[in-house]
Amino acid sequence: MKTQEKHEFKSEIKQLLHIMIHSLYSNKEIFVRELISNASDAIDKLRFKSITSEEIHKNFSNGCITIYINKEKNTLTISDNGIGMTRQEIIDNLGTIAKSGTKDFINSLMNDKKTDNQLIGQFGVGFYSSFIVSEKVLVRTRAATNLSEEGIQWESSGQGEYTIHNIVKKEQGTEIILYLKKEEKEFLDIWKIKNIIKKYSDHISVPIKIFNFDEQKKTGTWEQINKATALWTLNKTEIKIEEYQEFYKHITNDFNKPLIWSHNHVEGNQEYISLLYIPEKSAWDLWNRENKHGLKLYVKRIFIMDDASQFLPNYLRFVRGLIDSNDLPLNISREILQDNHIIQKLRRSLTKRVLNMLTTLATNDPEKYKIFWNQFGLVLKEGPAEDSINKNEIANLLRFSSLNSNNSEQHMSLVDYIQNMKTEQDKIYYITSDSYAAASSSPHLEFFKKHNINVLLLFDRIDEWMMNYITEFQGKKFQSISKDDESLNKLVKKNNQIDKNVEENINDFIKKVKTILKDQVKDVRITYRLIDTPSIVLTDTNEMTTQMAKLFSAAGQNIPPIKYIFEINPNHILIKKIMNVNDSIIFNEWIQLLLEQALLAEKGNLDNPNQFINRINLLLSH
Ligand code: ADP
Ligand code: MG
Repeated sequence: MKTQEKHEFKSEIKQLLHIMIHSLYSNKEIFVRELISNASDAIDKLRFKSITSEEIHKNFSNGCITIYINKEKNTLTISDNGIGMTRQEIIDNLGTIAKSGTKDFINSLMNDKKTDNQLIGQFGVGFYSSFIVSEKVLVRTRAATNLSEEGIQWESSGQGEYTIHNIVKKEQGTEIILYLKKEEKEFLDIWKIKNIIKKYSDHISVPIKIFNFDEQKKTGTWEQINKATALWTLNKTEIKIEEYQEFYKHITNDFNKPLIWSHNHVEGNQEYISLLYIPEKSAWDLWNRENKHGLKLYVKRIFIMDDASQFLPNYLRFVRGLIDSNDLPLNISREILQDNHIIQKLRRSLTKRVLNMLTTLATNDPEKYKIFWNQFGLVLKEGPAEDSINKNEIANLLRFSSLNSNNSEQHMSLVDYIQNMKTEQDKIYYITSDSYAAASSSPHLEFFKKHNINVLLLFDRIDEWMMNYITEFQGKKFQSISKDDESLNKLVKKNNQIDKNVEENINDFIKKVKTILKDQVKDVRITYRLIDTPSIVLTDTNEMTTQMAKLFSAAGQNIPPIKYIFEINPNHILIKKIMNVNDSIIFNEWIQLLLEQALLAEKGNLDNPNQFINRINLLLSH
């Protein structure tokens, strides 16, 4: 039998402990919440296990968390009769940080003093918060699966190492004994502890009891501190805003308040309770689609699992909260969750709930909606591709930067856009580009600027892809202005006086250009779309846009080069000048330069930049 063993903490834990103790000091009481939350998780886990294991079922008494204060020894003890830990589990759970990415987070905390230290709670490092107030911590535990009385004791002063040895432990579960630092004696005050628990953990479904010692009578009693009713089972009217907020913090480890929530008791065909929250700040790992997300799943009030991601589509992965179903079997596993028809139904109805909650927010509180959009808009943009059924609701929630807004903030809705369309306009115009700067300075916009027609500016990476899935909104079609388009050509013609003289000369000119460029381009035409720019390239209606081609090649796909339509602005002074160039070599150079310029503006780069530079130099020195 192994006896005492000394272990080093993994180095990231050392750093973490250091940061935690210093940065969370102002909010040190949260260690109570963290330890209680772990205890209640452990009881939930055991309750779930007891459903399927005869042996454990026999031994499972009702879950309870107890708190014991010993003023002489300066200790605060938090115990649970939950699942406990084996020797290996204690090493894995309390000696390393298993979650990938935590290390990066710590590094970013170390390097950037301004990083929000409050984020710490999100990283599953809750247990270590006990070292904020303790000079030594003992963890005495026995796994519920271990039916002998052999337990493990883990001990550390949070200085870089811990020891483990075997003990006798009669009860299954875990006992955490905090040896408080001298200056933290306030946590020996029973009133203080009771208040902290009321504040943070009132609606944990497990009872939390504290030992009240009567000095005179030399006896004591156990007093239950919390309500111990699962918050979500209560009626909405019985729940205070603060209680919803605290409960959110309890289930998410987020230090920030939630932005909004939606709590529903549903009866009839499907019976469930859902409590869905939208956070105020996005978690650091939201962008990784593979990372954990999802709801807590309960079946008839019994906790089944965390991070059940099947209840919401991926594009709503920022939603936190829980679902408590009456229709699912208790022994449901992650595998079964994949293709269960009850789950499909729940997913449809929860998706609607979230979209409704967001729609209501957007209508009733646009300022708050902005906060949401800035945090999660990018994720929501995955929606049209993933969820064709709710495409319209999602489109209605999208926000854009536009030509008229003059800045990169995305605040314009499609409804706003349509309301402000010109009478002769029948499409929603947009442009996609790599950045706001590139989009807003694109020569494609010249005509629109001149005639005060608004254009949506799209410059997030995902935009081009998204626009493949939303082709119309409220009966109006979307049109990329970097593509050839009949409606636009009509609009342009209507708004331009065609100068007969220019047109006569230009036909010859165009012919010459065509013979020079041959199959470098798809077609050569004149345009009245342009004002300050001599030439431009467009993609044909059925051709993939430049932005799309970039996405493909970034994804490592080999795609044939785009053949552009080359358009020339007959009213531009440079074109007029080139028309009069007689030297055929120089003329040729000019035409190639015009094309290269247009390609550069469209793509942001050229296949052969040197050739372009040589051409400019040649023409400048001519
Ligand atoms: P988190 O709760 O986010 O996982 P913590 O640092 O709070 O992170 O806890 C780390 C792990 O230690 C838990 O995931 C759990 O496996 C284990 N643990 C902590 N407290 C207990 C407990 N009272 N009973 C059983 N396991 C526990
Ligand atoms: Mg925890």
